[in-house]
Amino acid sequence: MVEQTHAAHTSISRKAPLPAVSDLYNIDHLLSEEERMVRDTVRKFVRERVLPIIGTHFEAGTFPRELVSEIAALGLLGMHLEGYGCAGLSAVCYGLVCQELEAGDSGIRSFVSVQGSLAMYPIWAFGSDEQKEHWLPRMARGEAIGCFGLTEPDRGSDAAHMQTTARLDGDAYILNGTKMWITNGSIADVAVVWAQTSEGIRGFLVERGTPGFSTSNIHQKLSLRASVTSELHFSDCRVPVQNMLPNVLGMRGPLSCLNEARYGIAWGVTGAARTCYETALEYAKTRIQFGRPIAGFQLVQNKLVIMATELVKAQLLALQLGRLKDEGLMHPVQISLAKRNNVREALHTAREARSVLGANGITLEYPIIRHMNNLESVFTYEGTDDIHTLIIGQAITGENAFS
Ligand SMILES: Cc1cc2nc3c(=O)[nH]c(=O)nc-3n(C[C@H](O)[C@H](O)[C@H](O)COP(=O)(O)OP(=O)(O)OC[C@H]3O[C@@H](n4cnc5c(N)ncnc54)[C@H](O)[C@@H]3O)c2cc1C
Repeated sequence: MVEQTHAAHTSISRKAPLPAVSDLYNIDHLLSEEERMVRDTVRKFVRERVLPIIGTHFEAGTFPRELVSEIAALGLLGMHLEGYGCAGLSAVCYGLVCQELEAGDSGIRSFVSVQGSLAMYPIWAFGSDEQKEHWLPRMARGEAIGCFGLTEPDRGSDAAHMQTTARLDGDAYILNGTKMWITNGSIADVAVVWAQTSEGIRGFLVERGTPGFSTSNIHQKLSLRASVTSELHFSDCRVPVQNMLPNVLGMRGPLSCLNEARYGIAWGVTGAARTCYETALEYAKTRIQFGRPIAGFQLVQNKLVIMATELVKAQLLALQLGRLKDEGLMHPVQISLAKRNNVREALHTAREARSVLGANGITLEYPIIRHMNNLESVFTYEGTDDIHTLIIGQAITGENAFS
């Protein structure tokens, strides 16, 4: 018995292959062949099509719109939805796609998250048959772009008290109000807009060009620069009754969309963290100071070890969350835990990785400061770090500390 235990112990320690530096826990081994294939396809796309252009777009403050048709051709728009031309992939596949896209840039992942989780999902889950038939196939093909209007200038975290109104008037709703910080806003063909009605909060599909609906872009952003962020203005905007999402009432509508998107973020930021860690590791191995590579100094190794450890932990959290989602067992509190932890740690990784590169870390020649600045937005959107702390705090204590 003692010998058997000893044999088992030695076989584990001696035969296990040396793990890859970016996958110290061999998480690859936990994925199916299909999941690995989806991940590798998107990784290749990012390497070949995103990385060569993203720094220039970030610097110019432009969204690489030329990539939309290619992203659509890969089946990544609404990929986790069934039917209507959507790929119907598992939650884990969706997560892996977000991870690889955000290894390129959070702006690209944001585009895909908004299109699939915040614009297509509510139409798919709460729309009429006509709305689904009209929008979803075109959105899956990238021929129509969507956005999600929840946040307002004076109602951010407290979105339930939104001030935008929709008043029923014959065969139309009259929308008035302003939405702010809306990803894809000015390039969207359809805006999913949440507004107060006499019955409670409802969602509306507002088409570009509807009289009374206008957009303006938010400038001077130093984060998510390769992503369009806009304001949506509604001034007595008449939206036909048949453009209202009929199958949801109240905050359950927007919150269920946010759950979908937050799930993708929990995965996505592991990609950004991986890129920062890999860049810092490579740099540390070749940068010579005091006559030796800086990777040989204990303080630098400590930073790299923390990055590698947090990457493993974040990926395992995301994967377990995905497995729970695929089994229909995912709870919103688990999403909050993963979103909060993984964004925090990705941001910390980016900052530490930036310091490993010294002065070189502040230029766009390396991807780190771009990721670092992007992650500041990711820390804030889709529920700030504080709001997720309160959600988890309430779940474990039973006490509401929101207000
Ligand atoms: C680049 C970008 C893209 C975005 N895209 C979209 C989009 O597509 N659609 C959309 O609807 N929105 C979008 N947003 C908006 C985003 O969701 C909001 O910024 C976010 O919800 C926070 O709202 P706020 O910025 O108004 O901050 P506030 O709610 O004003 O919060 C300010 C600070 O106060 C803290 N705080 C607030 N309430 C509490 C509390 N009860 N207890 C403790 N602390 C509290 C917050 O954590 C934060 O630190 C985007 C934002 C950015 C930056």
